[in-house]
Amino acid sequence: MASVRFDKVHKRYDNGHVAVHAADFEVADGELLVLVGPSGCGKSTLLRMIAGLESITSGTLSIDGRVVNDVAPKHRDIAMVFQNYALYPHMTVAENLAFGLKLRNMPKAQIQARIAQASQMLGLDAMLQRQPKELSGGQRQRVALGRALVREPKVFLLDEPLSNLDAKLRLTMRTEIARLHRTLGTTMIYVTHDQIEAMTLGQRIVVLRDGQIQQIDTPMALYERP
Ligand code: ADP
Ligand code: ADP
Repeated sequence: MASVRFDKVHKRYDNGHVAVHAADFEVADGELLVLVGPSGCGKSTLLRMIAGLESITSGTLSIDGRVVNDVAPKHRDIAMVFQNYALYPHMTVAENLAFGLKLRNMPKAQIQARIAQASQMLGLDAMLQRQPKELSGGQRQRVALGRALVREPKVFLLDEPLSNLDAKLRLTMRTEIARLHRTLGTTMIYVTHDQIEAMTLGQRIVVLRDGQIQQIDTPMALYERP
């Protein structure tokens, strides 16, 4: 678990566009925080800066009290789940889960233990030897979650993880992600453009518009003072 703190963080892209303007907020240890706002408001940019996939133009980003502006992604102890799953198509589910751990030279027995645990939590046991193309969209997203899970990150980043799924599956997976958060107690930052998803999932919600934070509150407070 870890806290994440933004201190007057700005992001200006090379073309001059300011995607994030003076972001100033903290995500508490173990919190499930949702970033919500219309397309193009800067949600992904915020998340990608935490992941180290995007540089910070000015300001300070800290994870667990440590400034990470110039820390390489692999040393940040975070895992990210993408909308399009980003699975390796030529690998089995088990290999997909194992891949990142093998890169870190984790012993085989430990990799197997982590795969067993994640696959049990996410109901992947029967799919381990299949390839992504043999799976449904919901199953693929489960594998993507599993691949983040096995790394046992301090912070989970989820970028519109459910927006490629149909409405019914979105509801199921939303419940599953909430359960995962309760079980793990890990800090999670969840990006969505869907207000209902934000209200039902987030412990606190950051409302973004045009790169600016408009509101930070609990769902109840936002409901009473929208
Ligand atoms: P969201 O995730 O809320 O849809 P993004 O963070 O992806 O928003 O984008 C925020 C703004 O920054 C948008 O106006 C987008 O067009 C712009 N943007 C995103 N990536 C780049 C880039 N690499 N170069 C220039 N502008 C970008
Ligand atoms: P290979 O054995 O050729 O490397 P697999 O897809 O069988 O490819 O497995 C990839 C990784 O996942 C390996 O580290 C393997 O030990 C692990 N693994 C495979 N099947 C299981 C399973 N049922 N439970 C736990 N770990 C597994």
